[in-house]
Amino acid sequence: MMDLEGFLKSVGEKIGAQWVDTRHETLARYGEHTLPAEARAPSAVVFPSSTAEVQEIVLAANEYHVALFPVSTGNNIGLGSRAPARAGQVVVDLGHRMNRILEVNEETCYAELQPGVSFTMLHDELERRGGKLMLSATSGPPHGGVMGNAMDRGAGYGPYFDHFGMLCGMEVVLGNGDVIRTGDGSLDSEELVNWHVSKFSFGPALDGLFSQSNYGIVTRVGVWLMPRPPAARSFHFTFPDDEDIAEIIELCRPMKLSNFVPSLFRVANDLYAIAPDEVSAEYAPGVKNAISKEGRLALQKRHGLGAWQVSGMFYGASDAAIEPLIQRVRGHFERSGKARYISHDEAQNISALKVAIDSMTGRPSASELGMLKWRPGSGNAWFLPGTPMVGAQALELDRVGRGIYEKHGMDYIVMHVASARFARGLHVLSWNKDDADENRRADACYRELSTEFAKRGVGVGRAPADYYDFHMDQMLPSLKKVYSSLKRALDPNAVISPGKYGIDGEQ
Ligand SMILES: Cc1cc2nc3c(=O)[nH]c(=O)nc-3n(C[C@H](O)[C@H](O)[C@H](O)COP(=O)(O)OP(=O)(O)OC[C@H]3O[C@@H](n4cnc5c(N)ncnc54)[C@H](O)[C@@H]3O)c2cc1C
Repeated sequence: MMDLEGFLKSVGEKIGAQWVDTRHETLARYGEHTLPAEARAPSAVVFPSSTAEVQEIVLAANEYHVALFPVSTGNNIGLGSRAPARAGQVVVDLGHRMNRILEVNEETCYAELQPGVSFTMLHDELERRGGKLMLSATSGPPHGGVMGNAMDRGAGYGPYFDHFGMLCGMEVVLGNGDVIRTGDGSLDSEELVNWHVSKFSFGPALDGLFSQSNYGIVTRVGVWLMPRPPAARSFHFTFPDDEDIAEIIELCRPMKLSNFVPSLFRVANDLYAIAPDEVSAEYAPGVKNAISKEGRLALQKRHGLGAWQVSGMFYGASDAAIEPLIQRVRGHFERSGKARYISHDEAQNISALKVAIDSMTGRPSASELGMLKWRPGSGNAWFLPGTPMVGAQALELDRVGRGIYEKHGMDYIVMHVASARFARGLHVLSWNKDDADENRRADACYRELSTEFAKRGVGVGRAPADYYDFHMDQMLPSLKKVYSSLKRALDPNAVISPGKYGIDGEQ
């Protein structure tokens, strides 16, 4: 039986009572999120300062049967923020005191980080050291955590975009209280020269088990960093029509399959590009319609943008060395007859395109967060499916998604992030969370999108916390069985985030 009081007393004795917070204001703040469901307040927040203290907290949770919910910086905006998976779980805020950059290795280009190191902190430290290395930034909150983002399989836009893939070597406190190191750190030695340079070692590779899961709390990781190139130049194209997404996907694919373009392509629709800098002029409380086509065209005109904007980046020895590469991409896109080229220098003055430049050159930026003000009330949820890099399939999914947004009176805000074979579709829902009807429509819209895309064989790559069980029910039953068996093996009392990603360890 759960004994919260016994747990808090025991943890207070181990880590200091001042690091156990049960104040009403704190719990209310940690329970807030931008999703349609009610707030999910924790019953306490605890602030460990070391792996040993995290281990003490996990052991106490096992003894007193208390559920924990670890966060790194807790800026998972649009996916759950720092609210626990279920109300009443104790938030373990790792970021507050475990926020050190433990090592920066400029020879083999990696950093060793604690959970609280934000994108801005790592960027600033790399610049302080002379800017030899470049991190892979998101275009999300700069105060979001490098580790938390990677654990949830977040992504950037440059050559090191795959944030989980760029982790190398973890230290993890398992749900049963054991501490392990993965990869080449698993050697029983204090001299771990290969931990953050070689991913694989003796035996099964365990790292993947800890992303989007609830089997352990990660307390240290190695993150690979790219040498900052002497020059980086972006290129951008606008396309006028919604249907142009089919052609854009066809144009991007060969550039990525051959790896000619080393960044990903950001393919943002008009509202994704413009919403961070505007508030919807057509919105008023009670309005049940999405923005009109005329309204969108007026915004496109005012911002000098199109129905779609495509951005990518080259890296090289000098601007002059990069120029021929840009001219080749330009020729490729302009053959379509619809693409309008925007140069790197022009794009620096267009905020929607500047954010692409910043994120592809490892510079965290808060500008995209402006989209939380598109409608009042700051409701924000991300539906994250994807499409094969085939124009006709992308267009079909675009029609389906656009229609569902329209039906629920939501503004269609989408960016495709295109690689060689696949593009992740970042579908943003932005609504007035203070309006009960709109809140209900946002929820219904998310569920219909997920249902209709799944019917077409498309699942999601990450999910807002309100929909963990919903998405798990879309999976093969045998998969849930495996996830639950792993949960019971690594966390037999289910003390870490039960319910997260639909995994609770039940038979
Ligand atoms: C406008 C906007 C733009 C965005 N753009 C991007 C983008 O470009 N790319 C992108 O990836 N995301 C983006 N996001 C989403 C999000 O904000 C980030 O992914 C966020 O930075 C996550 O990092 P965090 O440290 O806040 O994670 P946290 O909230 O701390 O954690 C995220 C998840 O990982 C788990 N977790 C965290 N730390 C640990 C740990 N140590 N051990 C085990 N589990 C752990 C948590 O339980 C939680 O489920 C965007 C959001 C907004 C609102």
